[in-house]
Amino acid sequence: MKATLDVQMVPNLKTALVWGTLPGATDETIYIVAHRDGWFEASGDNAGGVASMIGLAEYYAKAPQAQRRRTMVFIGLDGHHNTGPGAAVGGVWLNDPANKAKLFAKTALSINCEHPSTIQTYARPRYLTGDVLHWSNMYTAQQWYAGGPSRPELTAIAVKAFKEFGVPLLTEPDQRPPAGDLGRLYRFTPGVATSEFFHYFHTDRESPDTVPWTGLQASTRAYAKIVDEVNKLPLSTFQRPEEPAR
Ligand SMILES: [Zn+2]
Repeated sequence: MKATLDVQMVPNLKTALVWGTLPGATDETIYIVAHRDGWFEASGDNAGGVASMIGLAEYYAKAPQAQRRRTMVFIGLDGHHNTGPGAAVGGVWLNDPANKAKLFAKTALSINCEHPSTIQTYARPRYLTGDVLHWSNMYTAQQWYAGGPSRPELTAIAVKAFKEFGVPLLTEPDQRPPAGDLGRLYRFTPGVATSEFFHYFHTDRESPDTVPWTGLQASTRAYAKIVDEVNKLPLSTFQRPEEPAR
């Protein structure tokens, strides 16, 4: 097969991380991140994640600074879908040892919002005919990671929050975060991520109707609950020595 990409290419574009900070009562930090780029309409991947991050920023902005135990930093990440030179330069910059030491020394939690709600569809369900995807009125169960085996407190907080707000999860956590941007942060920050890679993932059918608002609400409220519960506990509960790169 031969394929041609009929699209205007623009050389030497510049990229950037987009930052928002809500100062808290201390210089300890909580990071909420979401990648901003996507294919086609990119409703699930990752407009849904950006919406979740913005929702959290709006919610916590309403609280007085003194009531936010930790400073909250929101980062719109760049270049997630690129490969090769110039891919995710912002994400690479965050991993620079000097930047890492400066930004994440007192981080209690990092949440990656990446496809937090996607429509549950079925391919050729038994006794139904036709080579079409059958849609349901529900969002998909997600792969997840919440701190890994060395942070049982964070895992317990996350599992309880997802259950409380009706977020379906696979029964076992991933050993590492689901493929995505928490992969850049989880070795040196206490990370939480959920994700699912649904039938329309990365296609031109990733339109808003593939992102159930119910799932977006459920995931975002669960993230907020995790933030609130983590803020009841000291930094030492969650911080661990940096894990070696695999
Ligand atoms: Zn993607």
